Amino acid sequence: MSELNLILLGPPGAGKGTQADRLREDFSLPHIATGDILRAQVAEGTELGREAKSFMDAGKLVPDEVIVGMIVERVAGGDARDGFLLDGFPRNRQQADALGEALSGLERHLTAALLIEVPDDEVVRRMAGRRVCVKNPTHIYHVDFDPPKHEGVCDQDGVRLIQRDDDKEETIRTRLEVYHAQTEPLIAYYDGAGVLRRFDGTRDPDEVHAHIRATVATLRLEENL
Ligand code: AMP
Repeated sequence: MSELNLILLGPPGAGKGTQADRLREDFSLPHIATGDILRAQVAEGTELGREAKSFMDAGKLVPDEVIVGMIVERVAGGDARDGFLLDGFPRNRQQADALGEALSGLERHLTAALLIEVPDDEVVRRMAGRRVCVKNPTHIYHVDFDPPKHEGVCDQDGVRLIQRDDDKEETIRTRLEVYHAQTEPLIAYYDGAGVLRRFDGTRDPDEVHAHIRATVATLRLEENL
C-alpha cells in the first residue's frame, strides 16, 4: 500500500495537535510533533533542550541547525518509513526545502499539506485562556471552554494551575508574527506544488476532524490507483 506523507500547517492554537492525535489513530501514522519533542528535551535538561528553551519561551523559532537534522532523520527511519504526520515542521522555507530534499533522496514525496485556518483573535482567545497543572502539564484546562471545578486548581491533582510562558498574551502575539512572516509563505509554496488542502479551524473539532479524515482517505485511494 502507498504511504501517506502528511504535514499539518496552521497558526499556533489552530488545533493541529488535537487533529493529529485523531488522524494518527485513523491512519496508523506516527505523529511527529516538533514542539512536543523540544519540550521533552527541555524537561530532560539535554543540551538540545537548553539551546531551545530561550527561543521557545520568547515565542521565536529554534534555529534550523538544531531542528532540521533531527526531523529529517526521524522521517527517514523506523516507524515513519511507511508514512508520517508532521506537526510543527516545516516552519519556514529552509525547513520545507530540507524536507523536500530528504524525501526526494528517499524517492518519496509529500502526499499533502493540511492547512487548518484560524484568525489571529481566535488564536489569542484560545491560547491565553489555557492553564496547565504545575505537577502534570498534560492536565490542561481553559478558563472559558474547559474550566476546572475550583478556579485555579487541578481537578486531578488538587495543585495550582499556571499559564505556560509561551501562552502569555505577549508571547502569543510574537508567535503569530513569526507564523505570518516565516510559516505562512509555505501556504503558497505547497499550493504551487499542488498538495495544499485547506480546512476551517474555527469549526467544532469533530467537524474539522471529519473533513480532514475524508480528504486523507480520498488521497490514500488516489495514491493507490
Ligand atoms: P509548537 O508546540 O509546535 O507550537 O512549538 C512550540 C515552540 O517550539 C515554538 O514556538 C518554537 O519555539 C519551537 N519549535 C517547534 N517547532 C519548530 C520548528 N519546526 N522550527 C523551529 N522552532 C520550532
